[in-house]
Amino acid sequence: MLEQAFPSEGSTGEYRPDPSEVEVPRLMGAGLAGVETAGEMTREEHIAAVHAGELGSVHSWELVTAVDGPGTRLSVFFAGCGLRCVYCHNPDTWKMKDGTAVLAEDLLKKIARYKSVFEVTGGGVTFSGGDPSMQPAFLGRLLRGCKELGIHTCVDTSGFGGASFSDQMIDDMDLVLLDVKSGIPEIYQQVTKKSLEPTVRFGERLNDSGIPMWIRFVLIPGVTDSLENIDAVAQIVKKWGSVHRVEVLPFHQMARDKWRALGMEYTLDAVEPPSKPMLEAARSVFRAHRLDTY
Ligand code: SF4
Repeated sequence: MLEQAFPSEGSTGEYRPDPSEVEVPRLMGAGLAGVETAGEMTREEHIAAVHAGELGSVHSWELVTAVDGPGTRLSVFFAGCGLRCVYCHNPDTWKMKDGTAVLAEDLLKKIARYKSVFEVTGGGVTFSGGDPSMQPAFLGRLLRGCKELGIHTCVDTSGFGGASFSDQMIDDMDLVLLDVKSGIPEIYQQVTKKSLEPTVRFGERLNDSGIPMWIRFVLIPGVTDSLENIDAVAQIVKKWGSVHRVEVLPFHQMARDKWRALGMEYTLDAVEPPSKPMLEAARSVFRAHRLDTY
């Protein structure tokens, strides 16, 4: 059950999340719908499987069209995230221990079943979350497996944990949806509680490797919507020739009830979603830098 199907790959060792954030649940013999698991493991087998990327923590998945990349996509939401965005729509994905243990080989079998759908629609798999960078060995194994199956892959990440991705993993990515949540370090810190620098470094690395990127920026009135901040994002991403498009996404209040249900303090109660003219004004800032923007 635990032999290596692929060469050892994954973490470069540069990124070390807090151990309390990276606890993969034990395999219980019945995973998410549609995936057979291999039964229970001993503690030693569990640790070895997590380390090798054979076992990961997954929050959920869904089949989607026209979001999270081209065509019809199987979006796989990893459990675990290194950021704590004030507007996060999925705070229930923050901790790996709250996901479900899934074997990479089982997930790859499920993915393979959709291959004809992906081929007809020009789609593929999107690894999202949470943030898939929290589980680099597991992600690396899935990316390699998809590559061997001839299935298009997309990684949706903030880039905060990008240093944990090996060069092999980056080679195996067909597209990255890179969230650049602010161009000004102080605002980035205010929005995510973490530093902007790892995201910029990861974007540079993707660009150096020629990996296509779609940049995502969430417009939050009163928080990220100053001309100075939007222009700072544009100044960063316009240097990356492999950026194919920028998506300016409107902040909305759909997360509010989830935060309340989880007993967490939500600080954006008074913020209204941006109007269409505000969104278009933000997009025009990117377009002024000759970036294809939606
Ligand atoms: S990176 Fe995404 S999942 Fe993580 S806290 Fe921010 S919005 Fe939520």
